[in-house]
Amino acid sequence: MRIAMIGGGYVGLVTAACLSDFGHEVVCVDKDADRIAALRRAEAPIYEPGLSEIIASNLRAGRLSFTGDLAAAARGARAVFIAVGTPTREGEDSADLTQVFSVARALAPHLDDNAIVITKSTVPVGTGDRIEAIIAEAAPQLRFSVVANPEFLREGAAIRDFKLPDRIVIGVEDEAARKVMGEIYRPLYLNQGPILFTRRRTAELIKYSANAFLAMKVTFINEIAELCEKVGADVQEVARGIGLDNRIGTKFLNAGPGFGGSCFPKDMLALAASAREAQSPLRLIETVIDINEKRKIAMAHKIIRACGGSLAGMTLAILGLTFKPNTDDMRSAPSLTILPILQDAGARLVVYDPKGAEHARPLLPGVVFADDPYACVAGADALVIVTEWEAFRALDLARVKAALRRPIVVDLRNIYRPDEMTALGFVYEGVGKGG
Ligand code: NAD
Repeated sequence: MRIAMIGGGYVGLVTAACLSDFGHEVVCVDKDADRIAALRRAEAPIYEPGLSEIIASNLRAGRLSFTGDLAAAARGARAVFIAVGTPTREGEDSADLTQVFSVARALAPHLDDNAIVITKSTVPVGTGDRIEAIIAEAAPQLRFSVVANPEFLREGAAIRDFKLPDRIVIGVEDEAARKVMGEIYRPLYLNQGPILFTRRRTAELIKYSANAFLAMKVTFINEIAELCEKVGADVQEVARGIGLDNRIGTKFLNAGPGFGGSCFPKDMLALAASAREAQSPLRLIETVIDINEKRKIAMAHKIIRACGGSLAGMTLAILGLTFKPNTDDMRSAPSLTILPILQDAGARLVVYDPKGAEHARPLLPGVVFADDPYACVAGADALVIVTEWEAFRALDLARVKAALRRPIVVDLRNIYRPDEMTALGFVYEGVGKGG
């Protein structure tokens, strides 16, 4: 099937590459000319394990191509996915749908009759109706369908998540669109990936509800971590103790510096805003947003306290900047809140991140970027772990200790064991480790 993918970012690129790997003929469109030029040379503009290889092999096979020409991509496509950004609207909480609507408007005159337009972007409930109205106004004679097909992939594990999804959610309003969507995802269906067909508005709300639930789980364990510190309990054991209950599950119960990333923060704001607009406010989600903002700030003060209450004249080594490991994505990373507070408190910061440096550099002025973890800690007064990259778990801790001026370690991800760190002579502080 000929498919057009509008937007070649994390979601569009992974979806385009994987759909071409299934055997579909996919044209991926992006307005960023440099990005298209790099992709034509099989260079992935983002770091995502396994992505470059899939792009390269499908480019070679002629199933995947890249262009800046939206009109040409739309012509002859049976299905057109929209996978552009839906950031927070400037000065508000709601989602800015400018990119989605402008793509819909630009597409309309070039769509084939009976084309299916599929929203992959995360959009508030009712957006499908608005896209339908925009296309109908711009191309009154056209027969077409608008489908909601939200994406649940996780950055860092995106290829696996796309090819072995927990479920595929498809919101359709007509039988023809349902059939085409079934064909697109047939390879996954054969692999027993469950496909859930719903009405379009329901599918749109499933995406936000899933993210809200996960953000709530993270926030819950972060609050319990705070309580653990006060009452002498261990949050990792609490998490395991509750997570082994099948009704709760062990995932998303790692206490840390607060959630970040390109999705949770903006999606929580957008969901809360759309619920307020529908006169059905989500008090739980409003509270999650508030707690998470305060959590990031509290982590900076935790670091200051661990260093004796003042950072004046100190150098801190920071390991990890991205919002989670295995990505170069810095969007709404907790480090962007925590590090400036440490700088304001007088610290000089030396940082290292395996993949995030390029995106982090312009966002963190005044910070020194080291080339490896050992160069990062050399001569520092304390070490702070902000992101749990696998490489930091296996550091030569004796070498780290020898390189530090003072053996203070603040581990915001609990990647080390307090007893082992103390035995090595570190003054160690994790999160929620009161017991
Ligand atoms: P992104 O910013 O990485 O990519 C968006 C791409 O769209 C950019 O490359 C941009 O140049 C391109 N673009 C914008 N307007 C365009 C236009 N008119 N024509 C062609 N290209 C255009 O964003 P992303 O992280 O891929 O997210 C896309 C959507 O998917 C968002 O709604 C997001 O909430 C959702 N989502 C993201 C993730 C994730 O993990 N990143 C997961 C699930 C859902």
